[in-house]
Formats: sequence, C-alpha cells, structure tokens
Amino acid sequence: MTINLITGGAGFIGSHLCERLLGAGEEVLCMDNFFTGRKDNIRHLLGDSNFELVRHDVIHPFFMEVDRIWNLACPASPVHYQYNPVKTVKTNVMGALNTLGLAKRVGARAFQASTSEVYGNPLEHPQTEAYWGNVNTVGLRSCYDEGKRVAETLFFDYHRQNGVDIRVVRIFNTYGPRMLVNDGRVVSNFIVQALRGEPITIYGDGSQTRSFCFVDDLVEGFVRMMDNESGFIGPVNLGNPGEFTIRQLAELVISQTGSKSKLIENPLPPDDPVRRQPDISVATEKLGWKPTIALEQGLARTIPYFDELLSRGKSAG
Ligand code: NAD
Ligand code: UDP
Repeated sequence: MTINLITGGAGFIGSHLCERLLGAGEEVLCMDNFFTGRKDNIRHLLGDSNFELVRHDVIHPFFMEVDRIWNLACPASPVHYQYNPVKTVKTNVMGALNTLGLAKRVGARAFQASTSEVYGNPLEHPQTEAYWGNVNTVGLRSCYDEGKRVAETLFFDYHRQNGVDIRVVRIFNTYGPRMLVNDGRVVSNFIVQALRGEPITIYGDGSQTRSFCFVDDLVEGFVRMMDNESGFIGPVNLGNPGEFTIRQLAELVISQTGSKSKLIENPLPPDDPVRRQPDISVATEKLGWKPTIALEQGLARTIPYFDELLSRGKSAG
C-alpha cells in the first residue's frame, strides 16, 4: 500500500488531499505545525486506521519510511506569510531541503506545491511555464515568492544531482471549503463580509484580475501529476483559466449570497500583481487535466461552508 507524507496536511488544500488519498485506500501521514492549519480540518479522519497526525515543523528534519512526500507546508495567504517573513523563507527553503533529503534517503517521490507567484507581476499574459517571471526580491511578497522559487530550484537540483524523483506544480488562486474565516485571501474575505453584511473591501479600484480554481479540481490535478509515469516532472500550471476582475468577483459574491453589503475601496497592497491567468495547455496535454467547476458553481459550494461556520460561531458566542 502506498504511504504518503503530506506536509501542511491540516491546511485548506492539504486536508482535501488527505481525504482524497484515504478515499483511494492509501495511507496518509499528515504533518503540520498548525500555524494556519486546524485540527478541525482533519478531525473526521482521525478514526481512520490509515491516517496518522504528526505535529512537526518542516524547518526541522524528519525521518520516516514513506513512498510519496507532498510538500504543502507554507502559509499561502499574504496576511499570514507576511506575519513572520523570515519564518516563511525558512519554511520554504528548509522545508524543501528536508523533504528532498528524506526523499533521497528513502527513495520517495517528492511533490512540490509551488505557485503562480513565481511569475510575480507578470509581463506575459496568460502565463506559460516557459515564462521566467517578474519578481521583486526585496518587497513584502518576496519572502513567499522567492522562497517558492528557491524551493523549485532545490527540487530540480536534487533531481539532476541525486536522481530524486520529483513533481512540481504551480498552483493559481484556489478556493473552497476549509479556508479560514480570517484567512485574508480575497474569496474568503468577500464571502465572510457578504454574509455578515459588512462592506466588501476591494483593494485598489478592483480592476486587477485573478483566475480562481475550485479545490476539488486542483486536487485532481495533483493526483494526476503525482501518478504520472511518463517522465514528465513539471513545472506545470494548475489553475482555472477563467479570469475575473476583483470587482467582478465582489459582484458575483453579493449576488450569490443575496447580501446588502456595499463595495468600498481600500489601498492596494504593494507589489499586488495586476493580472494573473494560467495557460494550462501543458497540464491538458501531459495530464489530460482541465478544471470542471466554474466560479459560480464553486462559490455555490463554498458559501454554505462559511455560512455554517459563521452561524456556529454566533450560537457559540
Ligand atoms: P494553508 O495556509 O491553509 O495551508 C498551509 C499548511 O501548512 C497549514 O496547515 C499550516 O499550518 C502548515 N504549515 C505552515 N508552515 C509550516 C511549517 N513550518 N511546518 C509545518 N507545517 C506548516 O494554505 P493552502 O491554501 O492550503 O496552501 C497549501 C500549499 O499550496 C502552500 O504551500 C501554498 O503555498 C500552496 N499554494 C496555495 C495556493 C492557493 O491559492 N490556495 C496558491 C498557490 C500555492
Ligand atoms: N483583495 C481585495 N480585497 C480583499 C483581499 C484581497 O481586493 O479583501 C485583492 C488583492 O489585493 C489581490 C486579489 O484580491 O489583488 C487576490 O488577493 P489574495 O490575497 O486572495 O491572493 P494573491 O493572488 O494576491 O496572492
């Protein structure tokens, strides 16, 4: 039976991946330091004999006999990765080194959850994997962007130098149930604000764009990439090419929640990328993958999650 180690397994995407692999009858070791992850995300899995939870920080080495390592550990929201930027760099760099060191030692396949942020504020649109990016090395987002870029470099160097079997995916904005209420990313912020009847905080004039992928589609792409035996190791873009302005997203959330919230404009954070849209032709050609869940459908599955979470909070308070 395949034994998987998922770093960051109690986080938003990690918990969906745990569920998916357990559902396929595989073993899952979920490792997390609970910085942005929560036990609630994986509580329903704790009784499964194929599931183990390990509290550990990836900046420290770990040793276990596993077949596959999925390296997801790293806060993904700008609010959380900028909270302790030095730690974010350590998590990315030491986490990649420790993942790859273990993969080399036990002969495991190593998967890296990289990001569209490696393209920075892109000068090419849409972004293909061949684009090298436009990234500020000294800005507020650099701890994350450059950390993820070095992690990709380490993956490819361990592959070339030590023959480690790697898979690298570049994830574009992904959303869905199990995001934190205080996550700070745009989809969760807007839904929570709309449900509470609070103003929807548009940063800047809302003309910047993002492309939003529902988490189930993303996890399907992860599994296809990890299972791929054709010799294709990436990097590969995984995201939904549907591109929306942030203002369009706000209007969609208002209409789907039936909220009376008003839109307000707040200052645009520094280095906020102006446009982002994945070119997924490589994923489609190599993995036969493309997203199946449009933004309206994905929001319809995400809004009830937040609605329930907020009403539970209300009754508890
Ligand atoms: P998340 O913050 O919910 O999950 C990250 C998990 O990693 C959390 O459970 C957190 O507690 C854990 N973690 C953080 N630092 C750690 C450390 N030092 N040691 C052990 N565990 C640690 O975010 P997510 O959206 O689920 O993102 C998962 C991965 O996917 C991240 O690597 C992120 O960079 C990448 N990614 C996500 C998106 C997205 O839109 N969701 C986009 C691009 C890349
Ligand atoms: N954003 C916004 N209001 C919010 C949160 C985010 O307008 O309450 C904007 C943010 O400035 C960015 C986009 O939404 O342009 C996506 O932000 P997020 O933090 O979700 O992810 P990013 O792609 O920037 O890492």
